[in-house]
Amino acid sequence: MARVVLVGAGPGDPGLITVRGFELLRSADVVVTDFLVDSRLKQLIPADVDIVDVGKRPGATSFSQEAINQELIRLSRSHGLVVRLKGGDPFLFGRGGEEVDALLAAGISVEVVPGVTSALAAPAYAGVPVTHRGLADGYIVITGHRHADAPLDYDWSALVASKLTIVVLMGVARRGLIADALMAAGMSANTPVVVVESVTWPQERSLRTTVGQLAAQQIGSPAVIVIGTTAGLHLDWRGSLPLAGMSVHLLRPFDPHDRLAEKLRADGATVMQAPAIEIQDPSDGGRALRDAMRNIERYDWLLFTSKNGVERAMETMVDLRRLANIKIAVIGSGTRDALERYRVGSDLMPAEFVGEALVDSFPAGSGRVLFPRAQVAREVVPDGLRAKGWGVDIVEAYQIGVPVPFMKEDLASTMDVTVFTAASTVRGYREQYPGVLPKQAVAIGPVTADRLRDLGVEQIVVAEEYSVEGLTAVIRRLAASSTQE
Ligand code: SAH
Repeated sequence: MARVVLVGAGPGDPGLITVRGFELLRSADVVVTDFLVDSRLKQLIPADVDIVDVGKRPGATSFSQEAINQELIRLSRSHGLVVRLKGGDPFLFGRGGEEVDALLAAGISVEVVPGVTSALAAPAYAGVPVTHRGLADGYIVITGHRHADAPLDYDWSALVASKLTIVVLMGVARRGLIADALMAAGMSANTPVVVVESVTWPQERSLRTTVGQLAAQQIGSPAVIVIGTTAGLHLDWRGSLPLAGMSVHLLRPFDPHDRLAEKLRADGATVMQAPAIEIQDPSDGGRALRDAMRNIERYDWLLFTSKNGVERAMETMVDLRRLANIKIAVIGSGTRDALERYRVGSDLMPAEFVGEALVDSFPAGSGRVLFPRAQVAREVVPDGLRAKGWGVDIVEAYQIGVPVPFMKEDLASTMDVTVFTAASTVRGYREQYPGVLPKQAVAIGPVTADRLRDLGVEQIVVAEEYSVEGLTAVIRRLAASSTQE
């Protein structure tokens, strides 16, 4: 049966969607979104679910509300479960009411899942309680933007007399008008104001001013304007978190349970997590690798430098006993662990996880070495082993591709810290964001740092240890030194 659910997405941070909303995203057949929905939330939607963007970009040609209503009705006829994801709460200036009305009139069953509205999230993240004993016994939410530029005809005197905290959405363009109307109705020009731009997004910014000064402030959209005595409070709960206000771009595949991302978020950072590289099938579809592995007895050594090489090669094996007389060398504990998952051990792993160290610790000999890896890679290892007398066959086990970028360039360029978790991510990042130089890079090791220097990145720190703890420690130190400046 045709069914549409309006789900409040919250202000941006996917952690602020409700459990019910999250469940529905996971079981949707199609998700209909707005441009205000954060791409991090889109990552929670399974890859095989269609996403239809009906975003109403300010100024750009886009779907009219009537067209959105029709689109929802049309989609509900061809899909089991349509999730209409709306920023914040669906019924607060989201025109959710009109969508529900149209759907019910068309005989479609509807569910509404409320969301965390920006009207409450923005003041909360700025340390402003919208009600507070002795200061405000309530709050009111108004819009600064009326249908077809109709005048803002609130009863301003009643608003001022109420002493309620006033929360303004869509108020950036008309902030001067609003401030003037409030002052004309008797509000003191010194009344505190907090403006919060893009709450829970990487470019979040908050600004403290007064009603008298509001018009003169530079403010970017989207923003929430909070006016009243409560806006003078600053319960700085975020200041108690070591990475508060820092945005971190992690260049690795999104996983809601990623320990590093979790830890950074718990420390108060805003984390954007998306890969700069993706592993693809080899250019010949895997033929060369299958042929080589079928003739594995011809080799003396098998050499792996990545988890991907291990997995691609081991997946071709039908009988592990054929590896019995072959020695195996690996670089990196991650590579070794991947091999052990196939119940296969290794004979040689250099203490340092770099190609040079492997060449140093490899014996001299005249036999043959099979090396499944990406076609494009450093030649240190094959060159070094050949110099020691070995015949080395490189077979292409996978290719490194670059996924479509996750963010727009202007957003990527605002990220405070970008974490490069492999040397190959540097190339991927440059292809994804050709016009952006990361402000501050964290490199997983010295090779990655060199690639970043080649790119012209100036601020680079190298993690002492490739682990969640090692990376968190480096990022905490960066945060501490930037607050000292
Ligand atoms: N239904 C939404 C509001 C839609 S109207 C909600 O409940 O939040 C759009 C307005 O919401 C914007 O003009 C801005 O005032 C506010 N807004 C939405 N997301 C925001 C965010 N992440 N940061 C600041 N303001 C936001």
